[in-house]
Amino acid sequence: MTTASEPRSPAPIPPEVAADLARLPRERLPALLRRMPKAELHIHIEGSLEPELIFDLARRNGVALPYPSVEALRAAYAFTDLQSFLDIYYAGASVLLQEQDFFDMAWAYFEKAAADNVVRAEVFFDPQTHTERGVPFETVIRGLHHACQRAHAELGISAQLILCFLRHLSEEDAFDTLEQALPWRKYFIGVGLDSSEVGYPPEKFARVFARCRELGLQVVAHAGEEGPPAYISSALDVLQVQRIDHGVRCLEDAALVQRLAASRMPLTVCPLSNVKLKVFERMADHNLPALLAAGLCATVHSDDPAYFGGYLNQNFIDTFAALPQLGATEAYTLARNSFEASFADERSKAVWTAELDAVLHTLAPSRAPGPNPTQDRVTP
Ligand SMILES: [Zn+2]
Repeated sequence: MTTASEPRSPAPIPPEVAADLARLPRERLPALLRRMPKAELHIHIEGSLEPELIFDLARRNGVALPYPSVEALRAAYAFTDLQSFLDIYYAGASVLLQEQDFFDMAWAYFEKAAADNVVRAEVFFDPQTHTERGVPFETVIRGLHHACQRAHAELGISAQLILCFLRHLSEEDAFDTLEQALPWRKYFIGVGLDSSEVGYPPEKFARVFARCRELGLQVVAHAGEEGPPAYISSALDVLQVQRIDHGVRCLEDAALVQRLAASRMPLTVCPLSNVKLKVFERMADHNLPALLAAGLCATVHSDDPAYFGGYLNQNFIDTFAALPQLGATEAYTLARNSFEASFADERSKAVWTAELDAVLHTLAPSRAPGPNPTQDRVTP
Protein backbone atom coordinates (compact mmCIF):
# COMPACT_ATOMS: atom_id res chain seq x y z
CA MET A 1 0.00 0.00 0.00
CA THR A 2 2.83 2.33 -0.86
CA THR A 3 1.68 5.80 -1.80
CA ALA A 4 2.29 6.19 -5.51
CA SER A 5 4.05 9.50 -5.80
CA GLU A 6 5.48 10.78 -9.03
CA PRO A 7 9.03 12.08 -9.00
CA ARG A 8 8.95 15.84 -8.49
CA SER A 9 11.66 18.43 -8.61
CA PRO A 10 11.97 21.73 -6.79
CA ALA A 11 10.97 24.87 -8.68
CA PRO A 12 14.16 26.36 -10.17
CA ILE A 13 15.45 29.58 -8.65
CA PRO A 14 14.77 32.40 -11.18
CA PRO A 15 17.99 33.98 -12.58
CA GLU A 16 17.31 37.42 -11.06
CA VAL A 17 16.83 35.82 -7.63
CA ALA A 18 20.01 33.78 -8.08
CA ALA A 19 21.85 37.02 -8.89
CA ASP A 20 20.54 38.66 -5.69
CA LEU A 21 21.57 35.59 -3.68
CA ALA A 22 25.06 35.70 -5.16
CA ARG A 23 25.41 39.41 -4.30
CA LEU A 24 24.18 39.19 -0.70
CA PRO A 25 27.15 39.73 1.60
CA ARG A 26 27.54 37.24 4.46
CA GLU A 27 27.04 39.99 7.05
CA ARG A 28 23.52 40.56 5.74
CA LEU A 29 22.57 36.91 6.18
CA PRO A 30 21.10 37.40 9.71
CA ALA A 31 18.92 40.24 8.34
CA LEU A 32 17.70 37.97 5.55
CA LEU A 33 16.95 35.18 8.02
CA ARG A 34 14.98 37.52 10.27
CA ARG A 35 13.14 39.46 7.61
CA MET A 36 12.25 36.77 5.12
CA PRO A 37 8.60 35.65 5.25
CA LYS A 38 8.26 32.03 6.32
CA ALA A 39 5.79 29.31 7.20
CA GLU A 40 5.86 27.67 10.64
CA LEU A 41 4.76 24.08 10.12
CA HIS A 42 6.01 22.39 13.27
CA ILE A 43 4.93 24.21 16.42
CA HIS A 44 3.12 22.55 19.31
CA ILE A 45 1.01 25.31 20.79
CA GLU A 46 1.33 23.84 24.29
CA GLY A 47 5.10 24.05 23.75
CA SER A 48 4.85 27.83 23.35
CA LEU A 49 3.63 28.22 26.93
CA GLU A 50 6.26 30.41 28.62
CA PRO A 51 6.98 29.96 32.35
CA GLU A 52 5.59 33.45 33.08
CA LEU A 53 2.26 32.57 31.44
CA ILE A 54 2.22 29.18 33.20
CA PHE A 55 2.45 31.02 36.54
CA ASP A 56 -0.17 33.63 35.52
CA LEU A 57 -2.62 30.93 34.47
CA ALA A 58 -1.87 28.85 37.59
CA ARG A 59 -2.77 31.87 39.73
CA ARG A 60 -5.88 32.68 37.67
CA ASN A 61 -7.11 29.07 37.88
CA GLY A 62 -5.94 28.23 41.41
CA VAL A 63 -3.65 25.42 40.18
CA ALA A 64 -0.73 24.44 42.45
CA LEU A 65 2.53 24.02 40.53
CA PRO A 66 5.35 21.71 41.68
CA TYR A 67 7.82 24.62 41.15
CA PRO A 68 8.14 27.56 43.59
CA SER A 69 8.98 30.23 40.96
CA VAL A 70 9.32 31.07 37.28
CA GLU A 71 13.11 30.74 37.69
CA ALA A 72 12.83 27.29 39.29
CA LEU A 73 10.59 26.13 36.45
CA ARG A 74 12.97 27.49 33.82
CA ALA A 75 15.88 25.83 35.61
CA ALA A 76 14.07 22.49 35.22
CA TYR A 77 14.32 22.84 31.42
CA ALA A 78 17.64 20.93 31.35
CA PHE A 79 16.46 17.92 29.42
CA THR A 80 18.35 14.72 28.82
CA ASP A 81 16.03 13.28 26.16
CA LEU A 82 12.52 13.49 24.70
CA GLN A 83 10.86 11.85 27.71
CA SER A 84 12.46 14.18 30.28
CA PHE A 85 11.03 17.09 28.27
CA LEU A 86 7.58 15.55 27.93
CA ASP A 87 7.29 15.12 31.72
CA ILE A 88 7.68 18.89 32.24
CA TYR A 89 5.61 19.72 29.15
CA TYR A 90 2.57 17.88 30.53
CA ALA A 91 3.03 19.52 33.98
CA GLY A 92 3.07 22.96 32.30
CA ALA A 93 -0.10 22.22 30.32
CA SER A 94 -1.98 21.42 33.55
CA VAL A 95 -2.70 25.15 34.09
CA LEU A 96 -4.86 25.32 30.93
CA LEU A 97 -8.50 25.01 31.94
CA GLN A 98 -10.71 27.72 30.38
CA GLU A 99 -11.29 28.74 26.76
CA GLN A 100 -9.60 32.06 27.56
CA ASP A 101 -6.43 30.20 28.68
CA PHE A 102 -6.13 28.49 25.30
CA PHE A 103 -6.75 31.78 23.53
CA ASP A 104 -4.13 33.58 25.64
CA MET A 105 -1.53 30.88 25.00
CA ALA A 106 -2.09 30.90 21.23
CA TRP A 107 -2.28 34.69 21.00
CA ALA A 108 1.04 35.04 22.83
CA TYR A 109 2.53 32.67 20.25
CA PHE A 110 1.06 34.52 17.26
CA GLU A 111 2.47 37.83 18.47
CA LYS A 112 5.93 36.28 18.58
CA ALA A 113 5.38 34.62 15.20
CA ALA A 114 4.41 37.94 13.62
CA ALA A 115 7.61 39.51 14.97
CA ASP A 116 9.52 36.67 13.24
CA ASN A 117 7.75 37.37 9.91
CA VAL A 118 5.75 34.16 9.98
CA VAL A 119 3.07 34.52 7.31
CA ARG A 120 1.60 31.06 7.66
CA ALA A 121 1.28 28.92 10.80
CA GLU A 122 0.00 25.35 10.88
CA VAL A 123 -0.29 24.86 14.61
CA PHE A 124 -0.33 21.50 16.37
CA PHE A 125 -2.47 21.01 19.44
CA ASP A 126 -2.71 17.97 21.72
CA PRO A 127 -6.37 17.64 22.80
CA GLN A 128 -5.74 14.45 24.80
CA THR A 129 -3.41 16.37 27.14
CA HIS A 130 -6.47 18.38 28.11
CA THR A 131 -9.44 16.05 27.70
CA GLU A 132 -7.83 13.46 29.98
CA ARG A 133 -7.74 16.17 32.69
CA GLY A 134 -11.47 16.76 32.22
CA VAL A 135 -11.19 19.85 29.97
CA PRO A 136 -13.81 19.52 27.20
CA PHE A 137 -12.52 19.33 23.60
CA GLU A 138 -14.80 22.26 22.78
CA THR A 139 -13.04 24.51 25.33
CA VAL A 140 -9.65 23.76 23.77
CA ILE A 141 -10.58 24.24 20.14
CA ARG A 142 -12.78 27.30 20.61
CA GLY A 143 -9.97 29.16 22.38
CA LEU A 144 -7.38 28.18 19.78
CA HIS A 145 -9.66 28.87 16.84
CA HIS A 146 -10.50 32.33 18.13
CA ALA A 147 -6.76 33.11 18.38
CA CYS A 148 -6.21 31.88 14.79
CA GLN A 149 -8.99 34.14 13.53
CA ARG A 150 -7.59 37.13 15.37
CA ALA A 151 -4.05 36.35 14.14
CA HIS A 152 -5.34 36.54 10.58
CA ALA A 153 -7.36 39.70 11.13
CA GLU A 154 -4.83 41.67 13.16
CA LEU A 155 -1.42 40.20 12.35
CA GLY A 156 -1.95 39.04 8.78
CA ILE A 157 -0.93 35.47 9.65
CA SER A 158 -2.75 32.71 7.81
CA ALA A 159 -3.25 30.28 10.72
CA GLN A 160 -4.73 26.78 10.81
CA LEU A 161 -4.86 24.01 13.41
CA ILE A 162 -3.64 20.41 13.18
CA LEU A 163 -4.92 17.98 15.79
CA CYS A 164 -2.20 15.65 17.09
CA PHE A 165 -2.80 12.24 18.61
CA LEU A 166 -0.50 11.28 21.47
CA ARG A 167 1.23 8.12 20.32
CA HIS A 168 1.85 6.75 23.84
CA LEU A 169 -1.93 6.50 24.30
CA SER A 170 -4.05 3.78 22.70
CA GLU A 171 -5.57 3.63 19.24
CA GLU A 172 -8.97 3.52 20.95
CA ASP A 173 -8.20 6.78 22.74
CA ALA A 174 -7.24 8.35 19.40
CA PHE A 175 -10.55 7.19 17.86
CA ASP A 176 -12.43 8.69 20.86
CA THR A 177 -10.61 11.99 20.35
CA LEU A 178 -11.47 11.99 16.65
CA GLU A 179 -15.15 11.44 17.55
CA GLN A 180 -15.05 14.42 19.93
CA ALA A 181 -13.34 16.52 17.25
CA LEU A 182 -15.74 15.84 14.39
CA PRO A 183 -18.38 18.44 15.35
CA TRP A 184 -15.49 20.96 15.05
CA ARG A 185 -14.21 19.57 11.76
CA LYS A 186 -14.12 22.97 10.06
CA TYR A 187 -11.80 24.31 12.79
CA PHE A 188 -8.84 22.06 11.93
CA ILE A 189 -7.24 21.04 8.64
CA GLY A 190 -5.41 17.88 9.56
CA VAL A 191 -4.08 15.41 12.07
CA GLY A 192 -0.60 14.55 13.31
CA LEU A 193 1.11 12.10 15.61
CA ASP A 194 3.41 13.24 18.42
CA SER A 195 4.78 12.57 21.94
CA SER A 196 7.15 9.70 22.89
CA GLU A 197 8.36 8.12 19.66
CA VAL A 198 10.50 5.08 20.48
CA GLY A 199 8.38 1.98 21.11
CA TYR A 200 5.27 3.53 19.51
CA PRO A 201 5.63 2.90 15.76
CA PRO A 202 3.26 4.52 13.26
CA GLU A 203 1.57 1.16 12.54
CA LYS A 204 -0.25 1.46 15.87
CA PHE A 205 -2.39 4.25 14.34
CA ALA A 206 -2.94 2.79 10.86
CA ARG A 207 -6.73 2.55 11.22
CA VAL A 208 -7.30 5.94 12.80
CA PHE A 209 -5.18 7.62 10.10
CA ALA A 210 -7.08 5.72 7.39
CA ARG A 211 -10.30 7.12 8.83
CA CYS A 212 -8.82 10.63 8.92
CA ARG A 213 -7.81 10.37 5.27
CA GLU A 214 -11.35 9.29 4.39
CA LEU A 215 -12.57 12.40 6.16
CA GLY A 216 -10.39 14.51 3.87
CA LEU A 217 -7.99 15.57 6.60
CA GLN A 218 -4.34 16.33 5.83
CA VAL A 219 -2.08 13.82 7.58
CA VAL A 220 1.40 14.30 9.05
CA ALA A 221 3.41 12.41 11.68
CA HIS A 222 6.52 12.75 13.80
CA ALA A 223 9.02 10.12 12.71
CA GLY A 224 12.79 9.68 12.72
CA GLU A 225 13.54 12.13 15.53
CA GLU A 226 14.64 9.59 18.15
CA GLY A 227 12.99 6.69 16.34
CA PRO A 228 14.72 4.74 13.53
CA PRO A 229 14.39 5.43 9.78
CA ALA A 230 11.98 2.47 9.62
CA TYR A 231 9.42 4.66 11.42
CA ILE A 232 9.72 7.20 8.58
CA SER A 233 9.11 4.47 6.02
CA SER A 234 6.05 3.19 7.88
CA ALA A 235 4.69 6.72 8.33
CA LEU A 236 4.85 6.96 4.51
CA ASP A 237 3.58 3.45 3.71
CA VAL A 238 1.09 2.81 6.49
CA LEU A 239 -0.13 6.28 7.53
CA GLN A 240 0.40 7.76 4.03
CA VAL A 241 1.48 11.08 5.49
CA GLN A 242 2.01 14.24 3.44
CA ARG A 243 4.83 15.51 5.67
CA ILE A 244 7.31 13.97 8.06
CA ASP A 245 7.88 15.93 11.26
CA HIS A 246 11.61 15.87 12.11
CA GLY A 247 12.80 12.96 9.93
CA VAL A 248 16.46 13.81 10.54
CA ARG A 249 17.42 10.15 10.99
CA CYS A 250 16.49 9.44 7.34
CA LEU A 251 20.15 9.93 6.42
CA GLU A 252 20.90 6.53 7.93
CA ASP A 253 19.02 4.91 5.02
CA ALA A 254 20.21 5.89 1.52
CA ALA A 255 17.22 4.32 -0.27
CA LEU A 256 14.84 6.22 2.00
CA VAL A 257 16.65 9.50 1.28
CA GLN A 258 16.25 8.86 -2.43
CA ARG A 259 12.57 8.17 -1.99
CA LEU A 260 12.01 11.30 0.13
CA ALA A 261 13.91 13.47 -2.34
CA ALA A 262 12.15 12.08 -5.42
CA SER A 263 8.71 12.69 -3.91
CA ARG A 264 9.64 16.12 -2.42
CA MET A 265 8.36 14.78 0.90
CA PRO A 266 8.78 17.65 3.37
CA LEU A 267 10.80 17.14 6.55
CA THR A 268 9.94 19.72 9.21
CA VAL A 269 13.28 20.01 11.00
CA CYS A 270 13.57 21.68 14.43
CA PRO A 271 17.26 22.44 15.10
CA LEU A 272 17.10 23.96 18.62
CA SER A 273 14.82 21.14 19.75
CA ASN A 274 17.23 18.55 18.32
CA VAL A 275 20.13 19.99 20.28
CA LYS A 276 18.14 20.41 23.53
CA LEU A 277 16.89 16.84 23.34
CA LYS A 278 20.33 15.50 22.40
CA VAL A 279 19.39 14.24 18.94
CA PHE A 280 22.58 16.12 18.03
CA GLU A 281 25.19 16.94 20.64
CA ARG A 282 25.94 20.43 19.29
CA MET A 283 24.35 22.63 16.64
CA ALA A 284 27.59 22.35 14.65
CA ASP A 285 26.82 18.61 14.34
CA HIS A 286 23.31 19.14 12.93
CA ASN A 287 22.64 17.41 9.61
CA LEU A 288 20.53 20.19 8.05
CA PRO A 289 23.28 21.01 5.48
CA ALA A 290 23.40 17.33 4.50
CA LEU A 291 19.60 17.12 4.23
CA LEU A 292 19.58 20.11 1.86
CA ALA A 293 22.58 18.83 -0.08
CA ALA A 294 20.69 15.56 -0.60
CA GLY A 295 17.95 17.55 -2.33
CA LEU A 296 15.38 16.99 0.41
CA CYS A 297 12.51 19.39 0.98
CA ALA A 298 13.72 20.27 4.49
CA THR A 299 12.25 23.18 6.40
CA VAL A 300 13.14 24.83 9.74
CA HIS A 301 10.71 25.16 12.65
CA SER A 302 10.54 25.75 16.38
CA ASP A 303 8.76 22.64 17.80
CA ASP A 304 8.28 23.71 21.47
CA PRO A 305 9.90 27.15 21.51
CA ALA A 306 9.23 28.01 25.16
CA TYR A 307 11.16 24.93 26.21
CA PHE A 308 13.92 24.76 23.61
CA GLY A 309 15.40 28.24 23.73
CA GLY A 310 13.84 30.12 20.88
CA TYR A 311 11.15 30.85 18.34
CA LEU A 312 11.46 30.53 14.60
CA ASN A 313 13.97 33.28 13.86
CA GLN A 314 16.19 32.11 16.72
CA ASN A 315 16.21 28.65 15.15
CA PHE A 316 17.38 30.13 11.85
CA ILE A 317 19.96 32.44 13.43
CA ASP A 318 21.53 29.81 15.69
CA THR A 319 21.57 27.16 12.97
CA PHE A 320 23.23 29.39 10.37
CA ALA A 321 25.70 30.75 12.95
CA ALA A 322 26.86 27.24 13.85
CA LEU A 323 26.94 25.87 10.30
CA PRO A 324 28.98 28.04 7.95
CA GLN A 325 28.08 25.72 5.04
CA LEU A 326 24.64 27.38 5.13
CA GLY A 327 24.40 30.65 3.23
CA ALA A 328 21.89 32.87 1.46
CA THR A 329 20.85 30.19 -1.04
CA GLU A 330 20.06 27.75 1.77
CA ALA A 331 18.12 30.46 3.67
CA TYR A 332 16.07 31.21 0.58
CA THR A 333 15.56 27.52 -0.13
CA LEU A 334 14.36 26.84 3.43
CA ALA A 335 11.83 29.69 3.28
CA ARG A 336 10.57 28.60 -0.13
CA ASN A 337 10.42 24.97 0.99
CA SER A 338 8.27 26.05 3.94
CA PHE A 339 5.69 27.53 1.55
CA GLU A 340 5.86 24.51 -0.75
CA ALA A 341 5.38 22.15 2.23
CA SER A 342 2.45 24.08 3.68
CA PHE A 343 -1.19 23.18 3.13
CA ALA A 344 -1.98 26.71 1.96
CA ASP A 345 -3.47 27.35 -1.49
CA GLU A 346 -1.17 27.91 -4.47
CA ARG A 347 -2.12 31.56 -4.80
CA SER A 348 -1.01 32.36 -1.24
CA LYS A 349 2.23 30.45 -1.81
CA ALA A 350 2.94 32.55 -4.91
CA VAL A 351 2.27 35.78 -2.96
CA TRP A 352 4.64 34.76 -0.13
CA THR A 353 7.33 33.69 -2.59
CA ALA A 354 7.08 37.10 -4.29
CA GLU A 355 7.42 38.76 -0.87
CA LEU A 356 10.46 36.60 -0.16
CA ASP A 357 12.04 37.65 -3.46
CA ALA A 358 11.32 41.30 -2.65
CA VAL A 359 12.94 41.09 0.81
CA LEU A 360 16.01 39.47 -0.71
CA HIS A 361 16.18 42.10 -3.42
CA THR A 362 16.02 44.91 -0.83
CA LEU A 363 18.93 43.39 1.09
CA ALA A 364 21.12 42.53 -1.88
CA PRO A 365 23.28 45.48 -2.94
CA SER A 366 22.46 46.75 -6.38
CA ARG A 367 24.94 45.88 -9.08
CA ALA A 368 28.23 47.78 -8.72
CA PRO A 369 28.01 50.81 -11.02
CA GLY A 370 30.08 50.48 -14.17
CA PRO A 371 32.31 53.29 -15.52
CA ASN A 372 30.24 56.36 -16.30
CA PRO A 373 30.77 57.18 -19.97
CA THR A 374 30.09 60.90 -19.50
CA GLN A 375 32.80 61.13 -16.84
CA ASP A 376 35.23 59.06 -18.86
CA ARG A 377 34.88 61.21 -21.89
CA VAL A 378 37.84 63.34 -22.42
CA THR A 379 36.64 66.88 -23.01
CA PRO A 380 38.74 69.31 -25.02
ZN1 LIG B 1 7.26 18.14 17.49
